[in-house]
Amino acid sequence: MTHGPDGRARATILGGFLGSGKTTWLRHQLHVRRFERAFVIVNEAARTPIDDALLGESHRLAVVADGCACCDGKARLVSLLREICDERSRTDSRSERLEHIVIETSGLADPAPIVAAIRDDPVLVHHVVLSEIVVMVDAVNAWVHLRSEPLGRRQVEVADRLIVTKAEEVETHELARLFATLKHLNPAASISAATWGSEVELPPLGRAAPEVLPTLEGMSQRLPLFPASISLGPNVDWTVFAVWLSALLHARSGDVMRVKGVIRTPAGRLLLQAVRCVVQAPEILPDPGKDCDFDDDTIVVIGRGYREEELTRSLEYFARMEQGNSKP
Ligand SMILES: [Zn+2]
Repeated sequence: MTHGPDGRARATILGGFLGSGKTTWLRHQLHVRRFERAFVIVNEAARTPIDDALLGESHRLAVVADGCACCDGKARLVSLLREICDERSRTDSRSERLEHIVIETSGLADPAPIVAAIRDDPVLVHHVVLSEIVVMVDAVNAWVHLRSEPLGRRQVEVADRLIVTKAEEVETHELARLFATLKHLNPAASISAATWGSEVELPPLGRAAPEVLPTLEGMSQRLPLFPASISLGPNVDWTVFAVWLSALLHARSGDVMRVKGVIRTPAGRLLLQAVRCVVQAPEILPDPGKDCDFDDDTIVVIGRGYREEELTRSLEYFARMEQGNSKP
């Protein structure tokens, strides 16, 4: 994995409930050199730091202990990231420069506030760009977290990639139900399974209905998330889109989980991402076409409580207003 053309380091946020297998997965990824020239940050909510030796294969490692990085430990995480970026900027040799930062969150962390902390920091926003939110789901214990813990559901909802661990310890029909439930909670995430950190092929799971999860306290309507695909018509330019998006996120802050898409602008192709209501500084993509999951000028809004047509109509409305304003 390389840094983006804008030179920022790419950040992977690794989440998942306590005991879901985050460290095992990360250790394997480092072993197979998936994250080259990476700095690994391990966050522990408890005072006792983990056994750093577990991650001995990473190039660099730091532990933020005694405080979860999404709340109590956030300020310390930010200052550590600043130090890392500062050192990175002083490295002249491109071949030695750190490319990737992997943050293994504590099992109690919601990844979204961590992404927001990076975006909101005036220094980090220029040095770090979110690459992916990977969330581990333990097939044996996931149900407890999904049924009763708002945090367990938030972690699943915000993920780009869900990796199910301990799949071999449950019956196939149970696994099929878990996959269906995860797909229902977050239809836009990719879902795979891993054993001891490496990806495994699963037998055909067959069809299963997702489990109907109870409404939890503090979580409003629990309609399922769905991805709405919106293509930016010829009348929508970057400025109009930016205004529309900020209005949408303001009005629907509780409903929108993610926004992703590639937009052509005079400055080049921009990869745009938002996690909940926090929009990342867009990443300039090489032109033409690096491998990308999205078509140009299409954005995907993942959320609940609205319809795709409503979003399309409101964007068209903004575009018409803008055209009206620019008439002499
Ligand atoms: Zn926290």
